[in-house]
Amino acid sequence: MCSVVKLSESDSYLQERICILKTEKALRAGGKIKLTAKEVEVNKLILDEKSAELSKAHKNVSEYLPSRHFFQAKGDIDRSKVFSIIKNIPKGASLHTHLLAAVSVDFIVENITYRDNIYGCFLNGNFKLTFLQNANQDTRCLWKELKEYRKEDADFDNWLRKQLSLEVENPAATYPSIDVIWQRFKKIFTTAYDMLCYRPVFEDYIYQLLTELYLDNVMYTELRGTFMPLYELNGTIYDTEEFFKIFIATVEKFKQVYPKFVGVRYIHSIYRGVTSEVLKSGLDELMGMKIMYPNFIAGFDFVGYEEEGKHIVHFHKELSEASRQLKFYFHAGETSWYGYTDLNLVDAVLLNTSRIGHGFGLPKHPVLMEMVKARDISIELCPISNQVLMLNQDPRNHPAVYLIANGFPVVICNDDPSAWGATGLSYDWYVVFMAMTSEKAGIEVLKQFAMNSIIYSAMSDHEKIEALEKWNLDWNKFLDNILNVLA
Ligand SMILES: [Zn+2]
Repeated sequence: MCSVVKLSESDSYLQERICILKTEKALRAGGKIKLTAKEVEVNKLILDEKSAELSKAHKNVSEYLPSRHFFQAKGDIDRSKVFSIIKNIPKGASLHTHLLAAVSVDFIVENITYRDNIYGCFLNGNFKLTFLQNANQDTRCLWKELKEYRKEDADFDNWLRKQLSLEVENPAATYPSIDVIWQRFKKIFTTAYDMLCYRPVFEDYIYQLLTELYLDNVMYTELRGTFMPLYELNGTIYDTEEFFKIFIATVEKFKQVYPKFVGVRYIHSIYRGVTSEVLKSGLDELMGMKIMYPNFIAGFDFVGYEEEGKHIVHFHKELSEASRQLKFYFHAGETSWYGYTDLNLVDAVLLNTSRIGHGFGLPKHPVLMEMVKARDISIELCPISNQVLMLNQDPRNHPAVYLIANGFPVVICNDDPSAWGATGLSYDWYVVFMAMTSEKAGIEVLKQFAMNSIIYSAMSDHEKIEALEKWNLDWNKFLDNILNVLA
């Protein structure tokens, strides 16, 4: 450790200063990585670009992209040199992605909603999309074909995009509070759900989801979802077993075309507002499915606005029982409250969660912090989600900065990218690299984030070794490419 400095001895003062910074460097994420000669060269190039972009922001903070709202900064991020480097990094895995908000709105509007037999209708104040043989097949609503909507309104597609996304020109005015934006956010899922349950669309949707991740140099994903009642136009509805068969077959089809893609696992999600009885039967059903698809189903999580519904402790008996057979991946502490909703973190740790989704409130709990570190529980960090859903406006002040500085196992995730016009993981990686790591942190922290995403996945040890070997080949190609382009 560095000793206390004697201010009269200027040499030792500066040595002490170096010692403190060196000790901190070793503590933070990536601090224990020894760089290869090639990585040292690439590191210089990356740090040059990072410094150049940050120097501009030091002089004029309005140039600083991560603290601007993502809707307003995205176009400039697309033009950033650091972002173009990050896009090319083999990023490993995407471990916290919600299946129903993971495909770009462009694909949904331009591809899915231009198919035959798609209908729309307002039901209980929500616009819903579905596929039908004819309008009378579903009597819940007065369905109308989308081509009719388009005939009546030349701007219909723009209106439809807004139903499927949170993107607006002035988010501060449109969403005055976190409650307002969550109400709006939930409507996206209501609009899209029935449409995505149409079997041919579901298959194409999953294929596109994997394509968008793969194009962003992501090799594996764990998707949070629900058992979707897939259907055909003739009225056939598939059961849960068939849902998994169709899901897994689509993943396998993708892997045949892209053999470098390692695979997908599924994390079952139940709304946190259910009754104990509904949770119990949902967990029983999940455990039955887990026996049938042990490698595909990773475990269980709650979803929904954490301020609504019930706290995890309410279900501790059901969950303790299920923990003998299921792994948990709880969203916990996605809140600004202290001593209230954040107490979900206590229960997530007590229930032996494998990872923590968000963990925004974690640094308020020193005992939990120690337990999380000792048990090697990783934190799924989703900075753009936290900004758009109004937990944290400026990621420089995000609580996870402290976790990264202290070498906690953080994994960068994208949560619901389509809701804010993002694809893949690169936007979140950019925000973390430029706002949540030291200006002096370079390739070592990027390498650590990529490796963490594989190490803390639900893959078996054997699969992790294979995935890390594949990732390492891609990493070396990335190093060679960047030296060719930038050196
Ligand atoms: Zn989430």
